[in-house]
Amino acid sequence: MSTLLELASIAQSCQRCPLASGRTHVVFGEGSPSAALMVVGEGPGREEDLQGRPFVGRSGALLDRLLVEEAGLRRAEVYIANVVKCRPPNNRDPKPPEIEQCRPYLDQQVDLIAPAVILTLGNFASRALLATTEGIRKLRGQVYPFGDTGAVVVPTFHPAAALRSPNETLPQMRADFVRAKRAISDAANR
Ligand code: URA
Repeated sequence: MSTLLELASIAQSCQRCPLASGRTHVVFGEGSPSAALMVVGEGPGREEDLQGRPFVGRSGALLDRLLVEEAGLRRAEVYIANVVKCRPPNNRDPKPPEIEQCRPYLDQQVDLIAPAVILTLGNFASRALLATTEGIRKLRGQVYPFGDTGAVVVPTFHPAAALRSPNETLPQMRADFVRAKRAISDAANR
C-alpha cells in the first residue's frame, strides 16, 4: 500500500473521470494522518477548487466551528476529505460514475488513516460509506459499524444544509458532532 503522500501525488494527475478537465486543483484532502476522526464531505466547491484544500469556504467555516464547539477538536487534529476530489461544474451533484472512479482514493485514505470514527456530511458521503441508498434524514442520529473494521460511521447533514436552514438543521448537527466525540472516547477506552 502507498503512503498518503504517494496517493496524493498520484491523484494530482488523475484523469479517471470527466471532472478532471474542469478542475483548477485536485482537492485530495488534508489533516492529521493519524486522526481519530475523519470527516468526509461531498466534493470541492469553488473556493476549494481554487485553493486545492477541502472545506475552506462558508461550509468549511461552519464545519470548523462545530468541530471545536461540539467535538472539542481543532481542524488540524482531524483529517478532512471528500467523496470526489475534483469540483463538479457549477457545484452540481457528483454523478455515480464519478463517485465510482474516485472511490479507490477515498478507500485508501480510510485504510491509511484508520480513523476510529468517520463523520459523513450529507447524502453522498453517508450513502457511499454506509453502502446504502437511504437519505441523510433517516440515517442521522445513530452510530453505525463501518464494516468489520472496528471503526464507526456517524452520519450528519452537510454544513450547506445548516447554512440554508439553521433553525431546523443546526441543533441536529450539533448533536451528531457530540455523538462523534463520544464515539471517539468509546473507541479510546476499548
Ligand atoms: N462542500 C464539500 O462537500 N466539500 C468541500 O470540500 C467543500 C464544500
